[in-house]
Amino acid sequence: MKLEIRTVEVGFLPTDCYLVKDADTGRAFAVDPGFYEPVLEAALRDMEIERLDYILLTHGHHDHILGVAGLQERCGGRIVIHEAEAAFLTDDGLSLRSPAFANLPRAKTADVTVRDGDELPFAGGVIRVLHTPGHTRGSVCYQLDNYLFAGDTLFQSSVGRTDLPTGNTRQLLQSVRRLSALEGDYAVLPGHGPQTTLARERLYNPYF
Ligand SMILES: [Zn+2]
Ligand SMILES: [Zn+2]
Repeated sequence: MKLEIRTVEVGFLPTDCYLVKDADTGRAFAVDPGFYEPVLEAALRDMEIERLDYILLTHGHHDHILGVAGLQERCGGRIVIHEAEAAFLTDDGLSLRSPAFANLPRAKTADVTVRDGDELPFAGGVIRVLHTPGHTRGSVCYQLDNYLFAGDTLFQSSVGRTDLPTGNTRQLLQSVRRLSALEGDYAVLPGHGPQTTLARERLYNPYF
C-alpha cells in the first residue's frame, strides 16, 4: 500500500477533510467531508479520484457531515459511522445543523454502522475502528497503517469539547488515555487544525 493523503480545509471553521488514495490500487476513501465545495472537487480532480470506497465519518457533527450528500453523489462511497452516532445524520438537534444550511442536500442515512474493533477492508489492508467516545457518544478514530484519523477526539495539544449533546468529559479522557497507550507512533490527522503525532502529544498534550 502506498498512501497519498491530502488535507482539504472545508467550511467556515474550517474542518479538515481528508482524501486518501492508495497509489498501488487506485482505491480511495474520504474522511469527514464537512462541506462539499469547489476546493474539495479540485482536490478530487487533482488526485484523479473518480470513485470512493468509503466516506468515513469520525462523528456526526454538522461541520463533518454537511458535504456527505454532495460527495457521495459525485463519487459514491459507502457512508460509515459508529452505530451510536448514526442518528446524528438525520437529527439536527444532535448534529447542531443550523437552519442557515437548509439549502444544502441532506446527508443520507448510514450505509455501514461500525463498532469498536471493526475492520473495513481497503486496498488489500484494513481500516480499524477505535470507538473513542467523549466528544460525542459515537466518536471514533480510524486507523490505517500508521495514520490515525482522530476527528474531534484529539487535536494538537488539545482535545475535543465535551459540552455538546452526548458529550462526556470522563469518557473523553478515557478515550485519550487509550490512544496514548497505543503501541508505537502514529501520524494524527485531526478534525481541525494541524496534523500531529502521537509521540508529540504524549510529550506536550496536557490531557495525556
Ligand atoms: Zn465535533
Ligand atoms: Zn468538528
